[in-house]
Amino acid sequence: MPLLARSVQTPLHIEVRRGAVADLGKILVDGRISSGGEVAVVVGPGLGEQVVDLLRPSLKSAEIFVTGGGTLDAALELSNELRSGHYDAVVGIGGGKTVDTAKYAASRWGLPMVSVATSLANDGIASPVASLVNDGIKGSYGVHIPFGVIVDLDFVENGPDLVNRAGIGDVISNISALADWELAREVRGEPVDGLAASLARMGAEAVLTMPGDMTDDAFVTVLAEALISSGLAMAVCGSSRPSSGGCHEIMHAIDSLFPETASHGELAGLGALFCTFLRGDERRFAQMADCLARHQLPRTPSDVGLNADQFVRAVEFAPRTRPDRYTILEHLAMSPEEIHRKLAQYDDAVAAR
Ligand SMILES: [Zn+2]
Repeated sequence: MPLLARSVQTPLHIEVRRGAVADLGKILVDGRISSGGEVAVVVGPGLGEQVVDLLRPSLKSAEIFVTGGGTLDAALELSNELRSGHYDAVVGIGGGKTVDTAKYAASRWGLPMVSVATSLANDGIASPVASLVNDGIKGSYGVHIPFGVIVDLDFVENGPDLVNRAGIGDVISNISALADWELAREVRGEPVDGLAASLARMGAEAVLTMPGDMTDDAFVTVLAEALISSGLAMAVCGSSRPSSGGCHEIMHAIDSLFPETASHGELAGLGALFCTFLRGDERRFAQMADCLARHQLPRTPSDVGLNADQFVRAVEFAPRTRPDRYTILEHLAMSPEEIHRKLAQYDDAVAAR
């Protein structure tokens, strides 16, 4: 009997629950990651002390590193500091910036990395990608997939509400990214990886239609798992394709033309809704518009403080942010006048819901 299959690198341990940070020492022992707790713990300046107080009793020999995080320079500096010690693993605890800084630094020395997410801002918690700013431009750097992924719901609950809700926008943008992938298959014959697509789709479909909000543990758990499987989808196919299409091109364009407009997840959700409208998929558009409204996430350019001209510029610029990626934006190749016209129709369609 032939047993043909592929091998996929995934995290060895995934835990989504309350109290995970306090139990970290035990989790590392149980997971055979570190029996003596000789790990480098990387925290951000905000949560730092609170996290250290909580995990000290279970991780007495851990060495703590505080990073401003979020930039390639900070990640390189951290990796130089890590070089002088001997660690079983690097544990990054915090939001996207801290985790991505730790991911990059650990990957540089081939150290196992454990991602402990205290917020659910985007699908970076389990992905083999570190999003870091270099010379003022945000870039995506390939790294080893985290060895362990832990989400502590106590921290998520107490974190900034909008930061967490933004993860909903990032997850449901998968629906639009997958439609772009299908389009690239039809038009350009680009192969679609079915396993990656299903990992990216399932969580997105669940978050799109699931009742409940960020005060509901069942919903937050599904959101965390959806973000994790989104990261796995990228690891499975070796590209961000299953979770990033025209939606993310618009997000990257807004980020580079109008920095600090809104977070990754908020802009990905807005970009996904706009791309879904461009595709003329009314059922999806309605579902997505309602989901974003339900979770008080932005749906129109004015919701994130952009005027029509600025948004049109971003949509026009978007294809240049990912030159080889074929999406609805490359497919339609709209002139600025056409984008303006579509945007006016889009604003009306959103207002009607
Ligand atoms: Zn994303």
